[in-house]
Amino acid sequence: MGSVPNLLGMCGVAGIYAPGHDAARLAFFALYALQHRGQESAGIAAADGGTLRSHKEMGLLGAIFDEENLRELNGYISVGHTRYSTTGSSIVVNAQPLLEQSVLGDFAFAHNGNLTNTDELRETLSPGVTLQATSDSEVMAKVIVEGSGSMMDRITSLLERARGAYSIALCTKDELYAFRDPWGVRPLCLGTYGQGGYVVASESCALATIGANYVRELKPGEIIRVSKDGLESVMVRPGEKTALCMFEYIYFARPDSNFSGESVYMARYRMGRELAREYPVEADVVMAVPDSAIPGAIGYAAEAQLPYVEGLIKNRYIGRTFISPEQDMRSRGVHLKFNPVVENLNQQRVVVVDDSIVRGTTTPRIVQLLREAGASEVHVRISSPPIMHPCYLGVDMATYDELIAANHTVEEIRQRIGADSLGYLSLDGLVASTGRKRDEMCLGCLTGTYPNVPAWHASRAAPV
Ligand code: SF4
Repeated sequence: MGSVPNLLGMCGVAGIYAPGHDAARLAFFALYALQHRGQESAGIAAADGGTLRSHKEMGLLGAIFDEENLRELNGYISVGHTRYSTTGSSIVVNAQPLLEQSVLGDFAFAHNGNLTNTDELRETLSPGVTLQATSDSEVMAKVIVEGSGSMMDRITSLLERARGAYSIALCTKDELYAFRDPWGVRPLCLGTYGQGGYVVASESCALATIGANYVRELKPGEIIRVSKDGLESVMVRPGEKTALCMFEYIYFARPDSNFSGESVYMARYRMGRELAREYPVEADVVMAVPDSAIPGAIGYAAEAQLPYVEGLIKNRYIGRTFISPEQDMRSRGVHLKFNPVVENLNQQRVVVVDDSIVRGTTTPRIVQLLREAGASEVHVRISSPPIMHPCYLGVDMATYDELIAANHTVEEIRQRIGADSLGYLSLDGLVASTGRKRDEMCLGCLTGTYPNVPAWHASRAAPV
């Protein structure tokens, strides 16, 4: 699937407070490093201490921003967003940052995640409140608009009431805020920039790209405020269960990012080694479905003492197939995306490592491509356990019906994808590979136990 991602639903957020610097330009390059987290739309809002301006459009960052519109976003504070929609349509009104007006002044709001109590929060809004967008993000922003007290008070109140996954960067005309849900489902890290500057971003690779220094992850339930007085941190609801999404390690994050010092690349490499121990096979070569499965395949090859080869070349200009969430577009994306390297595959017994199988629409095509290129055997190895349950926390796999592993045994899946053998990494092997404790991660789609989702959610969607 690293291949052709049919597992989607991330967004990228960034926030910059950098006196003396062009914060919009820094946000642009930070978002460039986060483009993999969302390709439907992107936007940047910037403030100069007096005025807040924004620009957002549908499409990729590089197509949206140019020197002219970046120059108009002058100021030393900015927030930016790259979006993939899980709630709310893929239309420009849902693009972020959202710009809102409160009695405290304008603010810009950029969200990664998905709420599980949007309806409940929406019902608390005044009857006169008009929602322009169709996303849960706007409901959260309106809760802040309708709150009372300082911006910190309003955000604290939101954190006390909002359930689900949310990592948010928010700026006013002269302050930057960032906060993370009390379970820490989506990542958000903090760095320093220059003299007295701060940066927050979904992943550490964005910090490295702009030359910021990584400091730490925001804690689950933490709010930070950066102003002329420096950085202030407030903990709201401390002690909730920490539950970073496991799929950040498996697939979402860039391999050059790290979470709390744990390298994503090395976690994936260890997953591959463990997979080789759990599912060895007589073979000639090991290859990855590019890109996110590459470290896992290198790990598998090292453990199995087999050569690692490039078996598929990815057309990098097509982009992730979640440009369109429609199923038929996803299928077409697979056909456009890869070409086999026949010289590495012909008459070879091939182990092909991928990071997950979600709907099972991509893998059969890949197996077929390898056979057409002359592979004598194709052994599929998946560096995650079967995805048996939907995600309610912002990843686009919402029903049991669409998950192949929820409806078929491993042997049935092997037959459907046309592989000679199929092996999935065990849950224990996955957890051990990350270097984190099992109870510090969300494993909901693998186990059916979610950190913060009301029981009705799970029961409503359970298979009959
Ligand atoms: S249910 Fe799965 S995809 Fe969703 S947040 Fe949890 S681990 Fe991530």
